[in-house]
Amino acid sequence: MSGPKSTADGEKVAASGLSIFSKYDPLKQRVDVVKKLGVDPFDMTFDDIMSATRGRIGNREIILAGTNNYLGLTFDPSTRASAKDAIDRHGTGTTGSRIANGTYVEHEQLERDLAAHLGKPSCIVFTTGYVTNLAAMAGLAGPNDVIFIDADAHACIIDGTRLAGTTTVRFRHNNPADLDKRLARQKIPEGGHALVVIEGLYSMFGDIAPIDEFVAVAHKHGAYLYVDEAHSYGVFGETGAGIAEEQGVLDKIDFYSGTFSKSLASVGGFCASRHPEFELLRKVMRPYMFTASAAPSNICAAQAALDAIKTRPELRHNIMARAAQLHAGLSDMGFELCAPASPVIAVRRDNEVQAAMEWNWLLQEGVYVNLAVPPGTPESSSLLRISVSAAHTEEDVNAILSRFKALKDNGDDIIAEMMRRMQ
Ligand code: PMP
Repeated sequence: MSGPKSTADGEKVAASGLSIFSKYDPLKQRVDVVKKLGVDPFDMTFDDIMSATRGRIGNREIILAGTNNYLGLTFDPSTRASAKDAIDRHGTGTTGSRIANGTYVEHEQLERDLAAHLGKPSCIVFTTGYVTNLAAMAGLAGPNDVIFIDADAHACIIDGTRLAGTTTVRFRHNNPADLDKRLARQKIPEGGHALVVIEGLYSMFGDIAPIDEFVAVAHKHGAYLYVDEAHSYGVFGETGAGIAEEQGVLDKIDFYSGTFSKSLASVGGFCASRHPEFELLRKVMRPYMFTASAAPSNICAAQAALDAIKTRPELRHNIMARAAQLHAGLSDMGFELCAPASPVIAVRRDNEVQAAMEWNWLLQEGVYVNLAVPPGTPESSSLLRISVSAAHTEEDVNAILSRFKALKDNGDDIIAEMMRRMQ
């Protein structure tokens, strides 16, 4: 007899005899292989984090070079004091969403200060950066609108189009001419609009968008432009307002989103707009209305980090100097790097297995970077992705370089040794 059934121990199985998890069998096989190497790169735990640049696993001290802690402000005296003070004054959590009891004066103050920094009349703070893009994109785009996204868009931008439920068109990565062509070709339904979504600095390769050219294309077609500067806010631009500021087009950006989880040294996100009507979206964005607001300590840490962005330009100079040092050192050794020097430096490897083994070896040697492999990477590439911090010293970068030099010189032996350990 066919139909759903249970096994003797109560496990639910379909008529096929397979459980609900059976679709993940290929994933399980991959995870099992990776685990044999030592640490699972996607399921690892630090026993301690001691500073913006040092962690500990067991009794091994690790240089952190994959944390997106771009300005190194998570341990800054100002962010820590601000977060502690917020806990003392307001407790540990808001226990409510922004439309219920979750808006405190600090949320509003931060919104005003971010809006002022970006020169926009409106800014809304969310609980994470991921939620920010989901909320704002789905709030902005209705059934008649069409969203245009870059081929290498971050997962939360893709998920934003899903929540919006609109027609979505992908254009070639960082290619304004391709966008131009697709905008000209696409029929926008009566009463609808085009919303173009790009990022400032792409998080995998560390390459930078020509935002100024995208502004011109969007303007030509009457499209709205939405820029996610998650990886570039605080790092680029004369005042830290990102790549749009650096390229002189900040005032032309319709919607500017960012996260607190990188330069702002906290957890949360924001979207600012040059359209005051953006404020209305507070009443319709489901990921704003139906999730708890950011904790007071997160908001106050981000506020202190914003103050540092505005008053300590040396942080930007430091990170750029360290990025240049690391990029030059790696390219001198002959590594293939995916983009010119920026705070994200991606080292291309031949394949997933090589990258995973080298990642594990680097960790054993006291350097934490990110392993990035398909399907999460552009061009199905396998990468050792490094994120530089203003808190890294010249010596830290030299230490990272020395491990990569060993990989370059003894890569075959290292892989053979890792293979032996897997047996
Ligand atoms: N946008 C981009 C481009 C990102 O890379 C990320 C996260 N790395 C986010 C948004 C989401 O930020 P958060 O960690 O605050 O959810």
